[in-house]
Amino acid sequence: MIAIPSPLRLRLSSEALVANWRWLAKQSGSAACGAAIKADAYGLGAREVMRHLAAAGCRDFFVATWAEAAALMPLPRGVSLSVLHGVGASDMVAARTLAARPVLSSLVQIARWRDAGEGRPCDVMIDTGMNRLGLHVEEATGGALDGLTVETLLSHLASADEDSEQNARQLAAFRDIRRAIPARRYSLANSAGICLGADYAFDLTRPGIALYGGTPRSEAEGHIRQVAFPEARVLQVREVRHGETVGYGATWTAPRDSRIAIANLGYADGYLRCHSGSGRATWEAGSLPLIGRVSMDLTAFDASDVGGLEEGDWLALGYDLPSTSARSGLSQYELLTGLGARFERRWARPD
Ligand SMILES: *Cc1c(COP(=O)(O)O)cnc(C)c1O
Repeated sequence: MIAIPSPLRLRLSSEALVANWRWLAKQSGSAACGAAIKADAYGLGAREVMRHLAAAGCRDFFVATWAEAAALMPLPRGVSLSVLHGVGASDMVAARTLAARPVLSSLVQIARWRDAGEGRPCDVMIDTGMNRLGLHVEEATGGALDGLTVETLLSHLASADEDSEQNARQLAAFRDIRRAIPARRYSLANSAGICLGADYAFDLTRPGIALYGGTPRSEAEGHIRQVAFPEARVLQVREVRHGETVGYGATWTAPRDSRIAIANLGYADGYLRCHSGSGRATWEAGSLPLIGRVSMDLTAFDASDVGGLEEGDWLALGYDLPSTSARSGLSQYELLTGLGARFERRWARPD
């Protein structure tokens, strides 16, 4: 096998990841702080994220599907894994054999789990107003869970990133549920929910985006560090004369004689066309504005004010999540989960 170096890489900071988890754990008060690592830990790499967080003391992990759970086996010692999408009929073989618990969310799933007859612990999702996954409160209190060994009873906040009255309503509903339904632990808060205060933490919190550098609410500003740093190689540096245009649709016209860096990066890598007009990269201390349209595999940056840049150099993309989200219109979640397979994920401590 020849090792082929990638012209596109995602530098990942385990130090920042762990620092974010510790801050979220502190905000969670006496509750344990888990981690949502679905969608390959929001594109960063679930196995590595789990390894770093488990080493820091995180014990409770959440994925969406059984395929995601299978990819994480064997689990680090002492770690528990829950599968948020529950068990469909075709999931039962995986659910019986893998060391993970389903988060049951409908009467059909509960019947399926009961019929499997193994008495193994499960988690249960109750809907308190989001109307996505979960049992109706009346179903849960009406005896549907009798005889099940419920490890964690969950609900999910719909508007925790906003100052919405829905938050207090869901909190009150969840408190009622806790009084009515026995479980070993209760869990309500995602990243934004943790920022709403200790009342929302119960026994276990489930942050995702804030672990990975997202700022879900203003309370987290200044505490959450960037974890993922995309970088692309310069394939060519070209001189463009005053008045010439660059790229598809000729949307950028050189306002002066310019030096343009063509980077190995495009919308096929999740660097979408909405970055046109506001995207930016840096090289050494210099700033390179994105120019023209992002193409599938290539993006042009204006390197006129950056002396010394050459073919083969690496550009660091501006990708701080809160500001990149604000200027691009993409959510902080989309910015991470969209980053494609051509990025080589490389864990290191940035300096
Ligand atoms: C994705 C998810 C989380 C984590 O949400 P963030 O907003 O990324 O912190 C927590 N709980 C459930 C049920 C989820 O689906």
